[in-house]
Amino acid sequence: MSLFGKLSAWRESRRLEQLEVSEALWSEALGDWGVYRRYAPQSQEKLREMALRLLLRKHLVAAGDLHLSDAMRLRIAGMAVVPVLELGLDWYDGWQTLIIYDGPFVAEHSWEDEYGIVHEETSERSGEAWYRGPVILSWEDVLASGLDGFNVVIHELSHTLDMRREGANGAPPLHAGMDPAAWKRDMQGAWDDLGRRAESGASLPVDEYALEDPAEFFAVLSETFFEAPRPLAAAWPAVYQHLVAFYRQDPLMPAERGVSAP
Ligand SMILES: [Zn+2]
Repeated sequence: MSLFGKLSAWRESRRLEQLEVSEALWSEALGDWGVYRRYAPQSQEKLREMALRLLLRKHLVAAGDLHLSDAMRLRIAGMAVVPVLELGLDWYDGWQTLIIYDGPFVAEHSWEDEYGIVHEETSERSGEAWYRGPVILSWEDVLASGLDGFNVVIHELSHTLDMRREGANGAPPLHAGMDPAAWKRDMQGAWDDLGRRAESGASLPVDEYALEDPAEFFAVLSETFFEAPRPLAAAWPAVYQHLVAFYRQDPLMPAERGVSAP
């Protein structure tokens, strides 16, 4: 680490020591969230420290009339660090700002077709992530996160991990020892299977929105991996194992379970 790297790490640790968050506030922020409750006590402590570091490093900006309380900031940060709990916060160094709207927001996009005509589109979003930021979230959807396998915070932040390699294409940078060909093959197999299940009206292990494109497939897989791992592991065990290897966490392992797990 360079001298300046050491200096800023030292400064962050000093600032971290000055942040005192009561048990009551942590419990208000994360106490009802199943994913948090599933972690063993030492992992919960790690998650809490990383959430505070995230709040020191990034800007959380409330848009419109929204007021962000401390509990709201801690809930967002606590959910945000779950994907990088075993990877490290540096995996988020590509973006600096999180913008939070009170409800779904209208996104405007323009795109150019093959004839050079630019189309303007508006659509309602619960979240959005851009290469090099910002990440945009709707508070209403943050509140709805943690139910039915849905988590807009994990979803959007997994997009930023995906974008670290060749843009948003569903292929994040894999760790040494992971086999990119096996990843591609098994993801493709699951994608095809999900398409078949959706067509036949069968039950789906992940939300159908995953079929939008490969980037959405990875983001939906990621939120489901943490929020509702069992049906995902049962439907596509190989995909589940790739996610275990990538996130370096296994949500189905008893060792991950906290004492207060339901
Ligand atoms: Zn998405």
